[in-house]
Amino acid sequence: MERSNYNGLLSIKDVNKEVTLLGWVAKKRNLGSLVFIDLRDTTGIVQVTVRDDVKIPDIRNEYVIQVKGTVAKKDVPNKALKTGEIEVVAKEIKVINKAETTPMIIDDNTDALEDTRLKYRYLDLRRPIMQSRLKTRAKIVKAVHEYLDEHNFLEVETPILTLSTPEGARDYLVPSRLHRGCFYALPQSPQVYKQLLMIGGIERYYQIAKCFRDEDLRADRQPDFTQIDIETSFLDQDELLTLNEGLLHKIFKDVINYDIKLPLRRMSYAEAVDTYGSDKPDTRFDMKLIDVKDILKDSTFNAFKELSTIKCIVVHGIANSTSRKVIDNLQLEAKKFSLKGYTVLKFINNKLDGSFTKFLDENVSKSLIDKLKLVNDDIVIIAGSNEYRDVCFGLGALRVSYANTLGLIKPNTYDLLWVVDFPLFEKSKETGGITSSHHPFTRPLESDVKYLDSDPLKVKAGAYDIVINGYEAGGGSLRIYDQDMQRKIFKLLGLSDEDIKRKFGFFIDAFNYGTPPHAGIAYGLERLTMVLSGTNNIRDVIAFPKNLAAVCPMSNSPREVDQDQLDELGLIIKKENK
Ligand code: ASP
Repeated sequence: MERSNYNGLLSIKDVNKEVTLLGWVAKKRNLGSLVFIDLRDTTGIVQVTVRDDVKIPDIRNEYVIQVKGTVAKKDVPNKALKTGEIEVVAKEIKVINKAETTPMIIDDNTDALEDTRLKYRYLDLRRPIMQSRLKTRAKIVKAVHEYLDEHNFLEVETPILTLSTPEGARDYLVPSRLHRGCFYALPQSPQVYKQLLMIGGIERYYQIAKCFRDEDLRADRQPDFTQIDIETSFLDQDELLTLNEGLLHKIFKDVINYDIKLPLRRMSYAEAVDTYGSDKPDTRFDMKLIDVKDILKDSTFNAFKELSTIKCIVVHGIANSTSRKVIDNLQLEAKKFSLKGYTVLKFINNKLDGSFTKFLDENVSKSLIDKLKLVNDDIVIIAGSNEYRDVCFGLGALRVSYANTLGLIKPNTYDLLWVVDFPLFEKSKETGGITSSHHPFTRPLESDVKYLDSDPLKVKAGAYDIVINGYEAGGGSLRIYDQDMQRKIFKLLGLSDEDIKRKFGFFIDAFNYGTPPHAGIAYGLERLTMVLSGTNNIRDVIAFPKNLAAVCPMSNSPREVDQDQLDELGLIIKKENK
């Protein structure tokens, strides 16, 4: 179709050029002798001006039209448009297709509810902001292909109809028609396959991989999502992280022209939890957790003498009355983050204030003020418990919540770090036994193998996460490559010989034929895109996402299927639960 230029790319350099444009009518204003049309295409919007000597067909919003005309400099530039210095004076306008009145406003500032946007996603996608997010996503993928190709990685696809992969979520199952009663599982990640590719001698693998996890959805989770999946042979942890830092540097540079400083900081899991109350610390602001047990054990508050952990955070500049609301909210917030046993002190006119001060004599007060380096208008939130993790994670969540409420995070700043030395196992709340913190193929640190039998929860793993602005943007590990060790870990996780054989027999067998030491990582493509396009809603960076109920309001999936299909698969649906 005839088109000379893209609308959003026209500029002052094109003045006097004859152009033929295509696009959608974003807006039409009729001023009698002049009609203005905002013409939108995938690159942006340009204003078309139609004088009364040009025949104008009946056009309405979202009609698809072709415009022939001349680019002219505008007397008064429109600062709101990238192309605002110019306009296109129309000579001829042709309607290519009509449109009904749309059920939502197609503009970056739409007031449509999210479910309406998802139901009419093809209209929502016309909004420039949505296109820009998809472009960010595509640029990330392009940078990944370029970088990994330059570093001798081979892109390999792995099956979607596959077997259960243990990433800790529920599987999506697909019934087999040919093998009644048997099911494929959709991959939670290509984990098993990428390790088999290493055994297969590929050495450097990557894939932009679709993953499927049936778990409760959140602002940063979808049932089907995409990983940048990487596996390498013969690299140690340092080599692998350095290679990945190069990748991250290229992504940030190519996509948002931001230079990240290398090497990235590496922080142990233990330090992250202790000082930031999180295994994915947002380090763009300070407000660290400070241990005050050594001071408060001397208060006259008896409970504090017995508690093993007493920590606090200091929030600056909010003790004055204008921010009372923020303090009042604390109660609610603390409850939400299951922070039991906390108290608040204010520092006003160089004095500690609050009911808790009755337990603090002058010395204790002074030590506290000195240690916390308090300045006027600070508030101190102190939490204590015998459960170390509850105090850390509770205060950590409050820390982030305060930073957001008080606007402590500068926009367009990025902070990246590796969190390393994760525990190999964690206590399972459901079974009381242990589960893998990462997945069961993660190698224990050499130095900690000796604790595997006596104190498994103490064992640290060769596992690492890349954390960007408080998001876990990716994670991976050194893998076990010794058959006996793999068997031992399965056993510690409570799998019987029979289970191991049934679920992972082929995998364990493969280890017998010369398995190279290997390690890998996977990035959440959506989370990276969220960070780089400044949204905290994962659905904004997926063309056709599902809502929080795991439903696609556009296609209405999941749906019931025809009886014939069920019969063919040999399935009977029980309507009631269990
Ligand atoms: N498969 C892992 C995950 O999805 C990543 C990895 O260990 O490479 O989290």
